[in-house]
Amino acid sequence: MDRITISDLEVFAYHGLLKEENSLGQKFLVSADLYLDVSEAAKDDDISKSISYTNICREIDSFLKNNTFKLIETMADRLARHLLIKYDKLDGVCIRVKKPWAPILMTLDTVSVSVERKWHEAYIGLGSNMGDKEGNIKKAIALLNEEEDCRVLSVSRLHITKPVGPVIQDDFLNGALYMKTLKTPQELLALAGTIENRLGRVRDVRWGPRTIDLDILLYDDCVMQSDILTIPHPEMDKRLFVLEPMAEIAPWVKHPVYGRTMKEMYESMYFIHPGQAD
Ligand code: AMP
Repeated sequence: MDRITISDLEVFAYHGLLKEENSLGQKFLVSADLYLDVSEAAKDDDISKSISYTNICREIDSFLKNNTFKLIETMADRLARHLLIKYDKLDGVCIRVKKPWAPILMTLDTVSVSVERKWHEAYIGLGSNMGDKEGNIKKAIALLNEEEDCRVLSVSRLHITKPVGPVIQDDFLNGALYMKTLKTPQELLALAGTIENRLGRVRDVRWGPRTIDLDILLYDDCVMQSDILTIPHPEMDKRLFVLEPMAEIAPWVKHPVYGRTMKEMYESMYFIHPGQAD
């Protein structure tokens, strides 16, 4: 991956745990590795296809002057997010903040914090079988997209599917979307829950009807299991209503555990259970 590096930009700002640091201020040294594809800019010798390091230096300076943080950890994290959200061309950043004049009444060279942040790729399963099903799915997509650190990039067609499980209920409308996000898997799950609640989801019957269901299907190549979150989604390989939209928007993406593409998984599932999804 191509990289532009800014080293030890001096910024006078007011961050720190001590009152004096917030009122008197001090110098911070900020370094940034900016990860982006510069091949088009290099080929055409055209700055508009890259990111101007002058602009980034000004942005770092004004962001750190217009905000006050207690910790350099927070400073580095917020700055990284700010740059990724503001500059579309950036895929990732590494920010290092040095505090050479940390007031600890001892001599040290410098104390510093580094954070690496990047856009993650996630696939979300969408489902609704109550009320205005299509409207619910569209609202959920709009709410996801409203988050400054989420970008919905493609949405599959929606399919009418028969409910699976013991509860007698209306047919579902199902689909899947592809997004980029700065959120961690846990933050994304929390957002999915908030959106489900906002759209009036009630969790009274297990496997029961729902205004909206948002499942994290894949998140980068992440494989994880905790009490509240399993990625890849544990049921995705058994559900035609998930694999069909995934085969449409991500045919060549591989399941990180089974190593098979979405298209392969859909086709072998369809062969076993044709007609589960319309
Ligand atoms: P449901 O909405 O009925 O599909 O189930 C939601 C519950 O499944 C939530 O409380 C989550 O904690 C849990 N869960 C585990 N893994 C996932 C995942 N990959 N995506 C969404 N929910 C998950």
